[in-house]
Formats: sequence, C-alpha cells, structure tokens
Amino acid sequence: MSVLPAFSGQPLDRADPLRADPAKLAELRAAGARRLRLDGLLPELDDDGRLAWDDIDGEADDLIFLGIAEGRAHFAAVPDVGNADPAYAQRQIWTLLGLLAPDDLALYGTARSVLDWHARHRFCARCGQPTKLAKGGWQRDCGTCGAQHFPRVDPVAIMLVECDGRLLLGRQARFPPRSYSALAGFLEPGESIEDAVRREVFEEAGVRVGEVRYIASQPWPFPSQLMIGCLGIGESLELAIDKSEIEDARWFTREEVVEAMAKGRDSASFLPPPPQAIAHDLLKWWLEN
Ligand SMILES: [Zn+2]
Repeated sequence: MSVLPAFSGQPLDRADPLRADPAKLAELRAAGARRLRLDGLLPELDDDGRLAWDDIDGEADDLIFLGIAEGRAHFAAVPDVGNADPAYAQRQIWTLLGLLAPDDLALYGTARSVLDWHARHRFCARCGQPTKLAKGGWQRDCGTCGAQHFPRVDPVAIMLVECDGRLLLGRQARFPPRSYSALAGFLEPGESIEDAVRREVFEEAGVRVGEVRYIASQPWPFPSQLMIGCLGIGESLELAIDKSEIEDARWFTREEVVEAMAKGRDSASFLPPPPQAIAHDLLKWWLEN
C-alpha cells in the first residue's frame, strides 16, 4: 500500500533554476502571474472551495516564487507577522484544513511554511543585522556579514512500535479525551532516524526498540517539521512511562485498532489521530500490512 499523507504531492513545478534569475522572475511576474490570497497566514477560498489567487499587477516586494503550473508563475507575499504556534493551538486552521482538496493542501503547506519562516527570520543569526529575501524566496542574505540563511525543515521521527502483534500508542495531556497516537520526537544533532526512534520510545515509554523501518514522510507546516514515519519492533511489552513527556501509553491489539479506525464506533477503546496527521496514515498502513 502506498502512503500519501496530507500536505504531500504539491502540484507546482518548483522550477529551481529560475529562482536565481531575478530578471526572469520579473518577466514571469509581468506575464500573467498569480499571487496566493491569504489573510495573514490563513488561506482564503474561492466560490468552488479552492485556494483563491489574485492576478499580480505592478511591482510587489517580498514575493516568494512557489513555482509554475499551466505556464503561469505562482507567488505568495510574505505577511507582516508569522505564527509558529502548533496546529492544535489554531482552531481556525483546523477547520480550513478539512475543507482543502489534497493538492491545494500541499501547495498551501509549502507556501505557509516558507512565508512564516521569512516573517520570523528577518535578522541575521550571525551578526544581528537585517537580511533580505533572495533566490525567489528560498534564501535570505545578510548584506552586512554576507551570511546566507535557508528556510528551516526540522526532522521529527514518528513511530508505531509493534511487539507480539500489539501496537504501542501514547497520549499527551492536551489531546482530546480517549485520543491516542504514535509517539514522536525531534531528531537531535548527531542522530540517525533509527537512533531517534529508539531514544524517543525508550525515553517516553521505557521500551527498547530493535529493528526500525521507514514507512513514509509528511511535510507539516506548523511551522516547519518533516514527519518521518517509521515502524519499530519493540523488545518487550513492559512499560515505564515518563509522565513529564506523555500522559499515558498503552499497547493496543489489532482488533482495537481496527475498531478505532472504523468511523463512528463509540465503543472503540481509543480515538485515532485525525486524517491530516501522518499517524492516521501509519495506522491504516499497519492494518493493511
Ligand atoms: Zn549578518
């Protein structure tokens, strides 16, 4: 089964060679380019429920070149302020995410992540002076010390852990009641993906993990995570939960996961993660493999 999580499958040609060619970008802007219509960082929808676009007229500053589709260049403008809050803390965004078609969702996620980075990284991390947007928005340059800065992507390992046919899932205190999901954590410098999976599972649940297998990944634009979905094989069912990291973790049987993933079962022993989250795709994948 192929896994295509929400926010992946972005439809534009990113046309990287054009980014370093300001004259060509200006030419494209003048030749029927489109700009993503946003309210701050929130998407605006047209009458068909698709992402709304405006025709670009005249000069505009701080435009990100998103790419080319149907011969037209697509841009988005950097907002005054960014928003690095996690998605769960933004009620409005959850409603909108459920309305967007998969290709629009992927395009919006790309734009949101890079726009937010620009809005929150206007000064040089090396010398503190203001930086300027460069390479069509895929870089910022410091005119004072010459440093170049690039949009962040922060890798996160997210893993199902299996042992004796059971699946280990956990919950954080902020989750809705009865919700359980895959354990996850940011990679640290010096770690491989496998190292991070083994460390996080041991830290949070006290379970040693042997074999680790990559399943699928998901760009998550709140603000810039790359979720790396894995399956780890647990070495025992014994748990030692670190309550400072998670509220609870439990082993679930295949039957319990089947029931939870079937919609509208109030009797299920837990509520699964929402369809926009890669953890949802990982659970579906596990049931089909
Ligand atoms: Zn600098």
